[in-house]
Amino acid sequence: MVAFTHSSFLTRLTQTMLTNLRRWRPFAKLGKPTEQTNFSVPVLCYHSWQLGDNYTDDNHFAMEQDLRTLASMGYQILPTEQLIAVLSGKVCPSNIANRKLACITFDDGKRWDFYDGVRSNGSKIKSFRRILTESQNAVPTHLNGARSLAFVIASPDARNELSQAFSEPPDYWTHDWWKKSAKEGIVGVANHSWDHVHDALKTVRQAENKKGSFFNIETYPDAHAQIAEAQTIIDKIAGKKRISVLGYPYGHAPSYLREEFLPTYGPSIGLKGAMSTAGRAVTNDTNIWDIPRFVCGHHWKTPTEFSELIRSTEASS
Ligand SMILES: [Zn+2]
Repeated sequence: MVAFTHSSFLTRLTQTMLTNLRRWRPFAKLGKPTEQTNFSVPVLCYHSWQLGDNYTDDNHFAMEQDLRTLASMGYQILPTEQLIAVLSGKVCPSNIANRKLACITFDDGKRWDFYDGVRSNGSKIKSFRRILTESQNAVPTHLNGARSLAFVIASPDARNELSQAFSEPPDYWTHDWWKKSAKEGIVGVANHSWDHVHDALKTVRQAENKKGSFFNIETYPDAHAQIAEAQTIIDKIAGKKRISVLGYPYGHAPSYLREEFLPTYGPSIGLKGAMSTAGRAVTNDTNIWDIPRFVCGHHWKTPTEFSELIRSTEASS
């Protein structure tokens, strides 16, 4: 009898301890998300070289309108580095849970991310930086960090050659703004590979010179050249304030990079996460080396499609 009582006491004690252990979830990665830690954050991607006359043709018009939509829906901007801090378990998800938050990113690092300009028809181009500065009251930033993030192509030679291939003036794809921008906190600066394995280049840093797809980066030497060497240049130019995330060119996240190279070498290169364009919201169980984004002009093309898309990400939370 005594033995039975003792053993049932031990069983109950063990069960209580196990239950408490299961309940002890400081961060979402340790268990299923709860109501207090559940989040769903859309990450948006724009291209400042997408220039034209209206919302559909021109990402500057589109982003300005989308920010008005986000303001009317009660959204705030979440700095990408904070999203990564949550996904890596450094910040508790309760800081972003049950809130209306969106992240904003730009690809390729052309000058209108930072500088105003003039369209071929003579109208003024508002830089992404200006649009994000003007929208600070309507769509405030939640937590500290840069309001947006520009993924830039590292190699100056590759950018030069691309500008020539597109018959552009030589100042369209320079890096003279990276350092100031990285410090300023409106448009952060991050790695978009060495040369984007862009098809307009004669030679790309891929062993067989395969162009036009980042899925061909599937060996250590190619990954080292495209990602680690790119990071070294970006660190040198943009300085310490650059943001520790890779934007996969074309949004392609090859399994070798996602599952082997980046989890193994990413932290020593200075990378804490990587972004694809998989077209879903970021949630508690998102792989930090394959953070999905929505691309303007691809995942949505009109203001109505934009608000529907944002609403659909709320429904999944
Ligand atoms: Zn790109």
